[in-house]
Amino acid sequence: MRVLIIGAGILGASAAYHLARKGVDVEIVDEEHQGKATLAGAGIVSPWATAVEQPDWYGLYATGARYYAELISGLTALGETNVGYGKVGALVVAEEKGTLDEAEARIHRRIKNAPEAGDVRRISPAEARELFPPLREGMEAVYIPGGARVDARLLSAAMVRAAVAMGAKARNDHVTLQLDDGRAVCIDSNGARIEADEIIVTAGAWAAQILNPLGLSHPVAPQKGQIVHLRLPGVATGKWPCLLPMSSHYMLAFDDSRVVIGATRENGAGFDYRVTAAGEHEVLSAGLALAPGLASATHIETRIGFRPASRDIKPILGRVPGIAGLTVGNGLGAAGLTIGPFAGKCLAELVADGAAPVALDAFAPEGRA
Ligand code: FAD
Repeated sequence: MRVLIIGAGILGASAAYHLARKGVDVEIVDEEHQGKATLAGAGIVSPWATAVEQPDWYGLYATGARYYAELISGLTALGETNVGYGKVGALVVAEEKGTLDEAEARIHRRIKNAPEAGDVRRISPAEARELFPPLREGMEAVYIPGGARVDARLLSAAMVRAAVAMGAKARNDHVTLQLDDGRAVCIDSNGARIEADEIIVTAGAWAAQILNPLGLSHPVAPQKGQIVHLRLPGVATGKWPCLLPMSSHYMLAFDDSRVVIGATRENGAGFDYRVTAAGEHEVLSAGLALAPGLASATHIETRIGFRPASRDIKPILGRVPGIAGLTVGNGLGAAGLTIGPFAGKCLAELVADGAAPVALDAFAPEGRA
């Protein structure tokens, strides 16, 4: 069987990696649009505090976080160790004590079946500042030792590299789809057909452009995110936990004295690949209010990413009814770096073995792709 994957963000990269592990002949093609979500995503992998209760979505989110241990050990065994993954923990904070109490209760309810979250406990403002020094004084926190962060640029590149080492092909190109006697066929930018028995579209926020010519109305739209990267020269930030305020702006840190503050959530902005004054202001104001110790940090860059947002928060994962050989994976929204590796494994097993490791009925493309 020959499988073609369109889109090498975290989802397509994972599908390629898992197919290659199975010995399937796989090719992955990617255009690297400006605003590719995987290149901009913050990288927090800590699902347990979210206020979103949608059960199908939350189940996949939590499974995605759990799957990271297996993913990382599989990549490590293949020599892929530079993936920017660290179990640095997460600190949940809130402006109101009542909000923190609610979050704490929610987390404890959820981690009954998630030992990977570790020994979750309430910590004092002083302990919180020991873990994340720039944090404002007086903020109690709920500490989740199993929270993690990942550099998705490194991780997705590692998955593609591992796939190629196992025989996959990877190339940069813009491709399109056509219908040929009820079957999807892929055409490259030179007008040549790319032979494949199965096609998996993991084209993120751009997927509708490739699926519309097949008569499909794909309900995924770009949600623009502007995310600020700062440097604290000479400060060892690599072990700092992710900071998850129970409002919209969060923080995390990486090895190279880098602290990241995210992010705007702009619906209706289309593919506007610009840093705006309002976006930068929003993120920096929220970040500095929460962590005034970052005031002297150097601004390195502001990244722009287009989250592939579905209408009902749930991802779309499955075979497209009525079109032979076509499978879609998309709609990972704001949680795709957590869900993506496991969802890619699901797509790989669905296509190669005819069944995914978990039921995907709730995510079926019927009426949604
Ligand atoms: P993408 O990464 O966008 O990849 C799609 C690829 O398909 C692109 O490279 C594109 O060029 C390619 N493509 C499209 N059309 C074609 C074509 N016709 N031919 C060839 N190639 C094509 N998630 C978390 O879990 N934790 C976080 O902390 C987090 N933070 C985020 C912060 C921001 C600011 C943003 C923007 C996102 C964040 N996310 C986070 C979400 C996560 O980044 C996304 O859900 C995820 O990266 C989506 O991956 P994807 O593979 O579906 O799409």
